[in-house]
This record gives sequence, C-alpha cells and structure tokens, in this order.
Amino acid sequence: MDKTSSFSSHEGRPIRCKAAICKKAGEPLVIEEIHVHPPQAYEVRIKIVCTTLCHTDLAFSKYDSGPLARFPRILGHEAVGLVESIGEHVDGFKHGDVVLPVFHPHCEECRDCKSSKGNWCTRFAEDLVSNTRRYGMASRFKDSMGEDIHHFFFVSSFSEYTIVDIAHLVKISPEIPVDRAVLLSCGVSTGIGAAWRTADIEEGSTVAVFGLGAVGLAVGEGARLRGAAQIIGIDINPDKFAIGKKFGFTGFVNPTLCGDKKISEVIKEIAGGGVDYSFECVGITSVLSEAFLSTRTGTGKTVALGINPAAPTELDSFGLFRGKHVCGSLFGGLKPKLDIPILVDRYLKKELNLDSFITHELKFEDINKAFDLLEKGKSLRCILWMDKK
Ligand code: NAD
Ligand code: ZN
Repeated sequence: MDKTSSFSSHEGRPIRCKAAICKKAGEPLVIEEIHVHPPQAYEVRIKIVCTTLCHTDLAFSKYDSGPLARFPRILGHEAVGLVESIGEHVDGFKHGDVVLPVFHPHCEECRDCKSSKGNWCTRFAEDLVSNTRRYGMASRFKDSMGEDIHHFFFVSSFSEYTIVDIAHLVKISPEIPVDRAVLLSCGVSTGIGAAWRTADIEEGSTVAVFGLGAVGLAVGEGARLRGAAQIIGIDINPDKFAIGKKFGFTGFVNPTLCGDKKISEVIKEIAGGGVDYSFECVGITSVLSEAFLSTRTGTGKTVALGINPAAPTELDSFGLFRGKHVCGSLFGGLKPKLDIPILVDRYLKKELNLDSFITHELKFEDINKAFDLLEKGKSLRCILWMDKK
C-alpha cells in the first residue's frame, strides 16, 4: 500500500490476497489466494502488518462440533494493521491509520459501554457466532471458487487483508513498534487487565497464577506493577519458570512434582493460609477448582481467564459460603477503545515489559510452525510478518 496517498487504489473493489485457511479441525492451515470484499457501513478494511498466535486460535483450530466450530475459516485475532479503506458511517478512522483489531466489542453507546463498571457491551458481545458484527452470517471472504470462508471472532487476522467492524477496532499511536503493539490486541492486555481491573490487586498482596503462557505472565507483570509481595507461578512446563522471573514472579510450583499433595495445599503453605488473588490461565476446569481452593478464606478472589466453552465447573461450595469470590474475565475487564491507548502509553513510558513476550518471529507462510511452537510450549508469542520474504 502506498502510505503517502490519502486513499487506497483498491477502494470500493475486492482485493485479492493470501490467507491461511483452516479447512478442517486439527489439520494444518492452507495458504491460498482469497478475495476480500470492500468494507460495508461501519466496517474498515485493514492491511495486516503482523499477527501472533494465541492459545484460543489453537483451541478453535481443533474444535470439531458445536456452533462455534466452523470450516473453512480464517482464524487469528491478535494483530496490528493499517487502514486500507473505510465503509459508510465510519468516523475516526482514515487510510493509513495504525489500528489494533480486538475480538471483544466496544460500541461506546450501549448502557454497559457507557458505565464505568465492567466491559460487557450489551449491544454486541452476546453474539459470538456471526461472521460480521452487523450482518449476521454474511462473509467478506471468498475462496477462488467464489465460496464463502467463515470469519473468526470478528477479526480473522491470518490474512493479508481483513474486514473489521468499528466496534472491534482501536486506533493507536504510531510511535509504538508494531511488534510490541500486536501483543496488546489480546493476550497481554487480557492478563494485565485481569490484574488491574478485574482483580484490582493492591500493594503487598499475594498472588498465584496457574499457567505461564503469555496471558499468565501478563497477569504477573500486572501484579508486579501493582507492588504484589508474592507472585507464585504454577506450570507443568519447568521451562516457564526462568521466563517467569523476567516478569517478577517470586516463586514457582510444578504440579507434576507435588506427589500426592494437592497444588492448593502447597500454595497455602507458601502463602501463609492462601493467596489474596488466584488466576486460572490454562482453560482446564480442574485447574480452576484448585485455583479457587488456593485463595484465602473470607476474602480470596479467583479470576477465570482460560477458555473452555464445553466444560461445566465444580467449585468448593463451603469456600463460596465463607466469602471467597470467583469471576470470569473477558479481555481482562478492559474497554478496548479506552484502555488499549493507556497500555500503549505505559509501554512508551518504559513501564511495561512487553519485549520478553516475543520468543519467535517467522514469515506468514510459516504459520504452521508457529502453531507447532505454541502447542509444544516452546513459544510465548511468535510474530508472523506479512511482508517478510
Ligand atoms: P499458552 O498455551 O501460551 O499457555 C498455557 C500455559 O498453561 C502453558 O505454559 C502450559 O504449560 C500451562 N499448563 C497446561 N496445563 C497446565 C496445568 N494442568 N497446570 C498448570 N499449567 C498448565 O496459552 P495463552 O495464550 O497464554 O492462553 C491461556 C488461556 O487463556 C487459554 O485458555 C486461552 O484461550 C485463554 N484466553 C482467554 C482470554 C480471555 O479474554 N479470557 C483471552 C486470551 C486467551
Ligand atoms: Zn456496547
């Protein structure tokens, strides 16, 4: 794209480009040429500069049943892009703007978007099934045979171009390097937001984080910046402990080395009766039960971040009666359009450690290698560059 011109040469016309398509559950993605339609009202077409893989993409590449399992599909929801063209009724975005797409909507107009409590957008957030935010199952992607390809969580960033509704798009400062900004599109914002907004950790608190992927490590980073006294990381992959130290974790527990002892018992011993805050960042319901048991009776708070849409959860009901809290958090309780610019600002002021999240960089064509690295626990975030040859 010519960044110097004020409009795109493709404006109003479909664009032919490459996308990585998930054709069948559990199979490697296939890079193919697709057509991306022009944006309709309230939509923006963006050129993806780089994208990363979050565990949610990995999980959805494997689900083969239920309303959320759909193929062929363009996955991907952590990305940075440049605005290529805009549809009608799009205010506040223009050709060349640097933008982050976000899976969680922020319409800014509904009762909940206007309230300072929570980040649930009542107008849009309930619908996770549609392809496009305002047009139901209508897709903006066609394959070479003219057949529709499904979107993913209103972002679909594993494509050189994608269409995003303005309720899912945040304009950011061009000062932040794109390979740092991309982290704020989902996983890292979710973890930091959960520590700051959902839990609202105070100075001197004790914290346990189950699962030290990018989400869990970002919770640790948020807890460190709030001055937590103890931040305990729990992971079955011992390689994560050295990484955890970079984010201010003060202690580690490997569940596979605890013998007959429950993890919650070990955490209670380390934290003198239980932690003030625990976070589940894996997506396994038995881990959530242990996270809940690890918190202090009377006041402990557990935040569920790991996503496992199919599984019912069992919690210790005595713990609930004795005043413990548990709550889930989507996008860390952050309102994307308000809070992402604040995180960008804190990075630019050198307060946030984003650099240590990037463990790998690959060209987009090697996307299946990035899936493999995440699945094997070898990467935190792998930057996939669209234009790198
Ligand atoms: P990741 O795969 O990078 O990290 C998961 C970590 O959990 C790994 O380090 C793994 O070794 C560890 N683990 C696996 N089994 C474990 C066990 N039994 N006990 C302790 N640790 C265990 O994933 P990620 O990208 O950090 O995402 C983590 C979770 O958060 C996923 O479920 C993802 O879908 C979810 N997520 C939620 C939101 C949200 O808004 N709530 C946003 C982004 C991601
Ligand atoms: Zn709203």
